[in-house]
Amino acid sequence: MYDLIIIGGGPAGLTAAIYAIRKRLNVLLISKDLGGMTNYHLSLPWAEDYQVIRGLEIVNKFKSELEYLKFAHQMESVEHIEKLPEGFAVHAKNGAKFEARALIIASGTRTRRLGVPGEKDYIMRGLCFSALSYAPLFIDKETAVVGEGELALRSAAELATVAKHVTLIGPGAAVLETPLGVKLRKAKNVTIRAGYQVVAVKGNGYADELLVKSPQGKEESVRADGMFIELGLVANSQIVAGLVELDAEGRIRVDNMARTNVPGIFAAGDVTTSYAEQVLIAVGDGAKAALSAYDYLLPAL
Ligand SMILES: Cc1cc2nc3c(=O)[nH]c(=O)nc-3n(C[C@H](O)[C@H](O)[C@H](O)COP(=O)(O)OP(=O)(O)OC[C@H]3O[C@@H](n4cnc5c(N)ncnc54)[C@H](O)[C@@H]3O)c2cc1C
Repeated sequence: MYDLIIIGGGPAGLTAAIYAIRKRLNVLLISKDLGGMTNYHLSLPWAEDYQVIRGLEIVNKFKSELEYLKFAHQMESVEHIEKLPEGFAVHAKNGAKFEARALIIASGTRTRRLGVPGEKDYIMRGLCFSALSYAPLFIDKETAVVGEGELALRSAAELATVAKHVTLIGPGAAVLETPLGVKLRKAKNVTIRAGYQVVAVKGNGYADELLVKSPQGKEESVRADGMFIELGLVANSQIVAGLVELDAEGRIRVDNMARTNVPGIFAAGDVTTSYAEQVLIAVGDGAKAALSAYDYLLPAL
C-alpha cells in the first residue's frame, strides 16, 4: 500500500508529487498526461510569450523530475475510488487497482466546447478559453466572447477594460439584468448579441471571424482579432462523486488546508472550490495539499 496517491498530473498534482517525494513519502502519481492544461498555449501573431503569466518554468521543472522517476508515476485514467477500512483503492480504466492510505485529487476541469465547424482547427490560434489569462494581450484589439452565463459576462467586462471593442455573443436575458450585465449594456465599446448562437469559426491561419445566428435564424459575421469561448468549466470530480462533498457546480469542497470532508482525501487546483483558475494558484494548492497530507500521515510513518 502506498502512503499517498495523487490523481492528476497538471500543475497541482505535479507540485504535490514533488513535495511528497521530498518528504520521502511512498507516493504514486496517476494521470492521463503530465502538464494538464499547461499543454495549451494561446498563439497570436502579435503576442510575445513573456506577456502572459504561465508558470511554465516551475511546472516543466517538476514534470521532468517526475518523468525521470519512473516508479513514481503511472499514465492511466482513473475510473473510481473506493473507501477501504485502512485507506482507499484507486481503480484505473484498464482494470489496475492501486491502494493508499491517503489521496490527493488534482484532476482539474475540462472546457465546454461549441462543437461547430472550424472550432478544432483554430483552438489556441486566435480562438481561446481563458480571458482571465489572456485579456492583457488584447489592448486596442477587436474581440469576441461567446457564452450565456456569468463567466462570459466577467470575461467580456475584463476585455472591455483593455480592448477596442468586445462583441458578447449569446448571453441569456436574466444574466443581463445583473449589475455586471447592466454595466456591459451601457458600455460604449461592447455590442451584445443576446440569444445568438455561433454556427462556425473561420480564419486564415488564425481565427478571425465567427459566423453567428440570431434567435430569428438570421446569420451575420463577427470579425475579431481574438475570440473567447467562455461556456464554463466542468470539474473532473466524477471519480469521487458520492464519496466527498461537492458544491453545486461539482467542485470538490476543501478547507484552507486542502482537506475534503473525508479524512485522508485531500484535493488541489481547479477541481476544487479554491478561488480562480491559474497555474500559480494550482501550484500553491498542490504544495499545500501535499504538506497537509504529510501532517495527516505523520503519526503512522
Ligand atoms: C486554454 C487554457 C489556457 C490557459 N492559460 C493559462 C495561462 O496562460 N496562465 C495561467 O496561469 N493559467 C492558464 N490557464 C488555467 C490553468 O491552465 C489551470 O488553472 C491549471 O492548469 C490548473 O491546474 P490543475 O493541476 O488543477 O488542473 P489541470 O491542469 O487541468 O490538470 C489536471 C490533470 O488531471 C488529469 N486527469 C483528469 N481526470 C483524470 C482521471 N480520471 N484519471 C487520471 N488523470 C486525470 C489530466 O490529464 C491532467 O493531467 C489556462 C487554461 C486553459 C483552459
